[in-house]
Amino acid sequence: MGSPAHLSAASPRPSRLKEIRVLQLYPRDMNIYGDYGNALVLKRRLEWYGYTPVMLSYDPGDEFPTDPDILIGGGGQDSGQDRIQADLLGIGKRLHALAEQDVPMLMICGLYQLFGHFFETREGSRISGIGVLDVETYGTDKRLIGNVVAESDQFGTVIGYENHSGQTYLGDDAAPLAAVTAGEGNNQRDAHEGARHRNVLGSYLHGSLLPKNPAIADFLIATAVQQKFGDQLGELAAPQTAPLPLDALTDRARHIAASRPR
Ligand code: GLN
Repeated sequence: MGSPAHLSAASPRPSRLKEIRVLQLYPRDMNIYGDYGNALVLKRRLEWYGYTPVMLSYDPGDEFPTDPDILIGGGGQDSGQDRIQADLLGIGKRLHALAEQDVPMLMICGLYQLFGHFFETREGSRISGIGVLDVETYGTDKRLIGNVVAESDQFGTVIGYENHSGQTYLGDDAAPLAAVTAGEGNNQRDAHEGARHRNVLGSYLHGSLLPKNPAIADFLIATAVQQKFGDQLGELAAPQTAPLPLDALTDRARHIAASRPR
């Protein structure tokens, strides 16, 4: 019996049969100011592009899921960072390997800090990170809070909300994600926001970030589908089943967030 025409070798597999595995790291402890929204945006946009999202999560002590295609992680209190630290160091090698395989990742605030070398608290104790990103973070007495607008060559105007006392400094192997035009971002000195190594993005921006910055969501998705299936996102129809007012709503959310006072 021959295989159905739509599954034959001659025609590509329909993308709806293609699974993309999205792994959220430490949602129990590292997930504040709406960071879970990033998972929801990836899920929905993958569906709109015709893929089947498989949503996975990993908390301390869990078995690490096999073959994740996109990794995301959020922010948390210093105490949450403390709770996950040992476990994170335990899976550090695996995360390094995935990063070097160019797997796309987005780490926000507390996990951005711990994807760097360390977070040194105001009291001087160090929470070690895994050093996927060449950044160091120092706790300060000043909390940087409010909306941020930053310009990126790749992602255009990036808009989000920051709330952190740690200030992050980039080493030679990390490139800033965007140049800050409103707010603070990484620290009060350098006027840049976030960091990047290969396809690993670190950012201070909550809000959540991805609903207001679909260009970053589509970067994560395009990179994953290209790597896994050789698909070019640009060749697929734009999200066809997206509700029509989506772009207008996104634009409004971006505009309002960008024009809000700090
Ligand atoms: N505890 C860290 C800081 O304040 C991270 C905060 C966060 O994730 N929002 O710098």
